[in-house]
Amino acid sequence: MQQDSTSFERTNGGRGTSARPQLTDAQQVERLRFDTHEQAALLNDSNRAIEAVADRATDALLGQDILVIELGTLACPLERSRQIAQQLARAMLSPLHRAGLPPSLRIEVDVAQETFVPSGFETRMLVPHQDGGHVSYLTPSLLDDAGWDPGMRRFAPYGHCEYSTQTQKIYQGLFIAEQGSTAATIAFYPVLDMLLDAFKDAHGHEPSLPELIAWYGGNLRKSFDSRARHGGHYPTLAAFTGSERDEYLGVAPHCAEAPLEAELLERFPKLDELAHRCACGTCTGPAGRVFCNMLADVLGRHWLSFQSRYQSHALQTQPRDLVLWNNLACLHAGFDGSRTRVLEPIGFVVDEPSGESYEAWLRSAWRDLFARSSKATSRRSEAAETSQRH
Ligand SMILES: [Zn+2]
Repeated sequence: MQQDSTSFERTNGGRGTSARPQLTDAQQVERLRFDTHEQAALLNDSNRAIEAVADRATDALLGQDILVIELGTLACPLERSRQIAQQLARAMLSPLHRAGLPPSLRIEVDVAQETFVPSGFETRMLVPHQDGGHVSYLTPSLLDDAGWDPGMRRFAPYGHCEYSTQTQKIYQGLFIAEQGSTAATIAFYPVLDMLLDAFKDAHGHEPSLPELIAWYGGNLRKSFDSRARHGGHYPTLAAFTGSERDEYLGVAPHCAEAPLEAELLERFPKLDELAHRCACGTCTGPAGRVFCNMLADVLGRHWLSFQSRYQSHALQTQPRDLVLWNNLACLHAGFDGSRTRVLEPIGFVVDEPSGESYEAWLRSAWRDLFARSSKATSRRSEAAETSQRH
């Protein structure tokens, strides 16, 4: 694999506590705003207004996988904003079902998440991940891969997720209850963009959809079947792309600034070295440096280069925003979260990711994602060629 030639600045040699990876320009994301008429209707509990906004929100979410509903513009108290966020989410269920999501899709309001910042740091960064990633990740549909075992949609069947429940979060959302003391950002990374690149690196040509699904399904099976060896609770990007390196299959960094658990350092003797120096030289914490090295080894791009190629959106959240995204199709990262930030998860989830309607929906979801990512990656390659010529 080739190391990306994108230039980067060594901002702090990996030692400081203040520097963080540079964000690319905040790309456009669909923002749902309300005119004064709609604002008044929402505040008056008008069912018709809620349904109309929910229809718009569903269209936007299905169309581009990421959406911000700007409830902060209603300028009402926290409790009332939260109530409207939940009303809207509930009203989005019918249009989502009509659009082909499994009938078992339901709303899940999870407990509020306080923000843990490791000592010695002012803010924390969460590296790209999926919420409820022990159950929530893209898998082949049985209609595309007849030998797939739906049981492999639970990577850690007896549960290991410190942060969430046992449901598969298909569309996940965060209600920004408290913004915290900093301008925190959530950024997104389409999974299929990475898979297309990794397949091409491994095979020397672009995949057809059946080839991509077969390869990806094989990678997942391999990581699933070797859980006893690597001990991982989550399928990582290394698992997605077929790596066999246990440090990357068994360790799923979450908070970049966090130290590595003693138990992991003992199990993986090479982990300590991976935590000390990263491939880009800018990552601030041990877990973040392991993640950066993993990216460089399995995708051929260190963190900064990964970010510049795959970060599709970066949005600064505002208090009371409801941010929604396709949690199977996109990884998300959180930058600059301070100790006073509080996020309340509202997701569209299924309890059992299996059954006829689930498989049918998943099959069509792969087609949509493949079409979208193929277009995006070829656009990027053309842009890169053009810039090389000039
Ligand atoms: Zn790095």
